[in-house]
This record gives sequence, structure tokens and C-alpha cells, in this order.
Amino acid sequence: MRRDHRFFHRGMLFAALCSLLFLAFSFSTTADRGGSSVESLDPYHYHTYQELTDELHAYQANYSSLMTVSSLGTSYEGRDIWVVKLSDNVDQQEDEPGVLFMGAHHGNEKPSYEVCLFFIRYMVEHYDNDTVPEVREALNTTQIYLIPMVNPDGVEADTRKNCVPNHGPFGFKPTITSYGVNLNRNYADQWFLSYLLPVHYYLPFILWDDSGNYRGPSPFSENETRAVRDFVLAHDLCLSLSYHTFGEFIVYPWMHSSQPTPDEPLFRSIGENITQINHYTLYTKTWSMIPRLGGTLGSSENWLYREKGILAYTVELCTQRAPTNPQVVYNVCMTHTMVHLYLCQRAQTIEAERHLLHQTFTG
Ligand SMILES: [Zn+2]
Repeated sequence: MRRDHRFFHRGMLFAALCSLLFLAFSFSTTADRGGSSVESLDPYHYHTYQELTDELHAYQANYSSLMTVSSLGTSYEGRDIWVVKLSDNVDQQEDEPGVLFMGAHHGNEKPSYEVCLFFIRYMVEHYDNDTVPEVREALNTTQIYLIPMVNPDGVEADTRKNCVPNHGPFGFKPTITSYGVNLNRNYADQWFLSYLLPVHYYLPFILWDDSGNYRGPSPFSENETRAVRDFVLAHDLCLSLSYHTFGEFIVYPWMHSSQPTPDEPLFRSIGENITQINHYTLYTKTWSMIPRLGGTLGSSENWLYREKGILAYTVELCTQRAPTNPQVVYNVCMTHTMVHLYLCQRAQTIEAERHLLHQTFTG
């Protein structure tokens, strides 16, 4: 109990500190955003993989001092999985905090990559725009990475999973039994825990290969998750958002339980400040010993946090999977561009905050 008590005080200290940081950000973001609203109400056209590919390369050609595009490898069907870096001195590894935004682990959740693409365009086009000084500030002080379409095959097929043929739940059957692995269950984080607690983790739904939550025959069995893994292992990152739809809420590790991580005050503080911008619901962790029923095993968030201490969030955008109202899509993209700018600013202090958090705890 004493430990919890001290933990609570530590949290209070952080809440105060972080509120101050957030206020500073809020005051600096009241200028005109330089964006425009959408006039037409024709149904929104979500980018195809090829359209996204073409746009990314067009931006890189026009803004080569601020942006690179490179491939992390290919999907099962051979599509490049693009990673974009945005920064000043973009060709150099600088001593600046790294943040990562990802979209489309699930191919039918299309706003998740539109948000990333919109942000890329906004950043390169507003670098020299004095009405939004936060853009230049972010690019000058942060190394921003985006993997907008983790699952390009799923986007093209408009499916949740990727398109790999399955040979039974463990990959041993000679014939094809179904298609697709849920990439956000395929990361090597406590992947085998479901065998110990089968009912708790809805074992059949992640074991049966025709399930929408099938986790694959082994951890990191998929090209797409290995591409993300290798990128993350090779880069210094402190914060990450992975976009999904839908529900307008935010969750963070542990994704398989209601147990808080040692960084709970930091997770909570950043999450609360994100909700100040997007007005979503933040699911904080309780100190309950009862794990959340049906928690997610094998998620990118758990793996990013456990492997490298990255403060990794899932953001469930929108109130439906793929809204067709262009104003709705525009608003969600613009709002989360503001979220990204906030996170770039917050990234500047994350390591110091974490140091203080754990120093307070042990000292
Ligand atoms: Zn999803």
C-alpha cells in the first residue's frame, strides 16, 4: 500500500507539471491554422494504395529538404510498406526526439491512413507559413516518422486482416484453410499467454484462423509486422500513435490488462492532453487486480512499450469505420494534425519527465 501511496503522489506531481506544459502549448496554438474547410459534400474518396504512393513521392519531390520516403519491405502481395520521415536536415540522424504515427494495421479502417497522409502534406506545405509557427518548430526539433499504411494488401482488399493464405491455426495443414492475419495481434508480446488463460483471452477467436482476430501461426510471422519491428528496433522513438477506427477513444498499455505500467502517470498525462484536443474518451488504467476481460494480446502498443519503452497509444478515430462525409474526414484529419503538433512539442521533455518520474519514485 505504501508503494501505491507514493505512486499516487508522484502522479499528482506529474499532473501539475503536465498541465503547465499543456497550457503553454494551448496558448501557442491559437493562431490561424491556414487550413480551409471542405465545400463539396460528394462522398469522401479514400486514397488507394497507388494514390497514396504517388502522393508521397510527389511531396518528397517538391519538399526534399523536409521529407524522405523509403520502403520498409514488402507486404505479402508485394506492395512496399512506406515510411516517411519529416524533419529539417532530414537526411541526417539528429539528436532530436523521435515520434512515430502509424495507420492501417487494419485495412478496412481507412481514416487511419488519411490522417497520416493529411498531416504529411500539412507539414511540408506549412513549413514556411508564419501563421502556424508550431509546424516549423516541430520539424526543427523532432524527427517525425509515419508508416501510414502498415497493411496495404488489406487496404486494397478492404479487409481487416492482411491477405496471406492460412494453413490451419498453426500453419501445418497442406491446404489453404482461410486468408488473413490480424496484424495487431501478431507482435511478439506475451503472445503465448493465451494458452495459460484461454477463456480470459478469448482463445478461439485469436486461434481460429478464420477469425477476424486471428493472430497468425507464430509471433512476427507476417511481413508487415516484421517491417514495423525492424524499423522500431533501428530508431530512437519516445512516442507513438497507432490509428484505428472506430469509437473515439484512446487506450494504452497494458493492452491485455487493466494493470498500470510504471509510466502510468506519464501515459495518463499525455493521454488527457490529447483528449483536450480531440475530445475523445481516454481509458486510463486502474489499480484493480482484476484484469480487463478480453484484453488484446500481441498488439503493437504492448510490444513498442515493452521492447523500447515507447509511450505507444491506440487512437480509435471516428464514430464509424469509414465515414463518407468529407467534412467529417477533414475534421478528423485536422484535429489529429493538431494532436501530432502537440506530441512533437511534448516529445521534447519526455525523457526528462520520465527521469523525474522514476527518480521521485526511487528517491
Ligand atoms: Zn483496428
